[in-house]
Amino acid sequence: MSSTKARYAVRFASKLNILLPRVTNSSLQLPATVKLSKSSFHGHSISKAPNKGLKPPEHLEDLVQTDHLIIGGGVVGLAAGYKLTQAKKKLGLNNDTIVLIERNHRVGDETSARNSEVIHAGIYYPSGSLKEKLCIDGRKQLYEYCKAKGINHSNIGKWIVAQTETSQVEYLHKLKNKADVLGVPAEFISVQEANLQEPNVKASVVLESTSTGIIDSASFLKSLEWEFSSLSNHHLVVNSSATNVIKSPFGQCYLVQIEPTMQEAGNDSAYWIQTRTIINAAGLGADHLANMINLVNGLPATSPNFKYHFCKVWDCI
Ligand SMILES: Cc1cc2nc3c(=O)[nH]c(=O)nc-3n(C[C@H](O)[C@H](O)[C@H](O)COP(=O)(O)OP(=O)(O)OC[C@H]3O[C@@H](n4cnc5c(N)ncnc54)[C@H](O)[C@@H]3O)c2cc1C
Repeated sequence: MSSTKARYAVRFASKLNILLPRVTNSSLQLPATVKLSKSSFHGHSISKAPNKGLKPPEHLEDLVQTDHLIIGGGVVGLAAGYKLTQAKKKLGLNNDTIVLIERNHRVGDETSARNSEVIHAGIYYPSGSLKEKLCIDGRKQLYEYCKAKGINHSNIGKWIVAQTETSQVEYLHKLKNKADVLGVPAEFISVQEANLQEPNVKASVVLESTSTGIIDSASFLKSLEWEFSSLSNHHLVVNSSATNVIKSPFGQCYLVQIEPTMQEAGNDSAYWIQTRTIINAAGLGADHLANMINLVNGLPATSPNFKYHFCKVWDCI
């Protein structure tokens, strides 16, 4: 880190609620937590309207600067931080700084803390979709990560069962064909075998997805958080919302406005951070952020204007 950067990182660290990593040789230990105001925080909305009138500093030296800014500390943002760290090592970019901004008072407090903890096989998604590819690749990487880091998980497999209706039986055969094409292990097991293993399950056909598993997602998140925070030029900043994105007047960079989500003594002012890259990992806020970034990149406000449509696609086979 250059001396200017170091100076501002220190100023940044003291001004803001940065989690300063405490590395230990013993078992997993999370970094020291930030000091929050007395009232506990349960929501995630910004406590005041975004401060759109905040002017960016006129001098580069007055800016907090980073190379990469990850917005959102759910499993996607933390995993992106982990992968970026590995990529930096490979590319010899170890001096690059990464800041991860999270609007809640701790990471992993939204969707990543509210799921079924299933490691999916990847056979249900639309054929050829990115989701299908990422789920299959990600599953393999997730099992490897869990083994390497001692995260509680179990590759218990899953049964997908059909009752007597023809449509259900046909569906299972199509699903088996799809799994074979994808190279995802799935085998029919006989009803006798199924009855022996699970006498209470009523089924006429049983397809076993052997690569499905379960994971302790809280431990997984903690491990990713520790991996990220334990490096010296990585900063995890909580209680901070990204509320505006503009083009930097100081070169090919973005300026992102950060506002404290919850106001507290000594930390109630918004500021700008300059970054070369933004990783949008804002979960349910990702559409809003994507639209702000598009505007900076010269795309009109209305097109494309991302808006979430929540749905579950059932028949992808
Ligand atoms: C009921 C349910 C069950 C599920 N079961 C499974 C399952 O069994 N297996 C599986 O693989 N997946 C499952 N999922 C899906 C999985 O939980 C999500 O895909 C995953 O958690 C999404 O992670 P994320 O990091 O994208 O989002 P989040 O966890 O929501 O993280 C996004 C973060 O960004 C922060 N943020 C947003 N906007 C801003 C901003 N402007 N500034 C700063 N921070 C911001 C938020 O506070 C949040 O912490 C399930 C989902 C649900 C709802």
